[in-house]
Amino acid sequence: MFVLHAVIMGSITEHDSRKRYCPMLGHQIHFQYCREPGSDTPCRKLLDCWWTAFDAKQFLLDHYGKETIEKMLAPSQPKAVTLYDLIEKARKSAGDQDGGQKPHSTS
Ligand code: SF4
Repeated sequence: MFVLHAVIMGSITEHDSRKRYCPMLGHQIHFQYCREPGSDTPCRKLLDCWWTAFDAKQFLLDHYGKETIEKMLAPSQPKAVTLYDLIEKARKSAGDQDGGQKPHSTS
């Protein structure tokens, strides 16, 4: 049964050798990177980038669970919010290391 299912769906690696220009990285990459760009969650642009090359939507449905697909498609935080969060974390971390004292002002 598993073998039949795998034959119908295809392997998760079946498109790995496909190549295209990545608008985020600025150079050619293999599909393998798009489906696992340093994490188990595929790149959020996967459908936009690959829908003309093969049935990317069906690929996701065949190989990923609902939670992963929802996480992948969730809107990303604006960069300003992310930077703000990083700065706040750094401030808190600095405060923890120097006994809670605020950093000195240079002006
Ligand atoms: S899916 Fe993501 S990693 Fe792959 S080409 Fe598109 S933007 Fe780049």
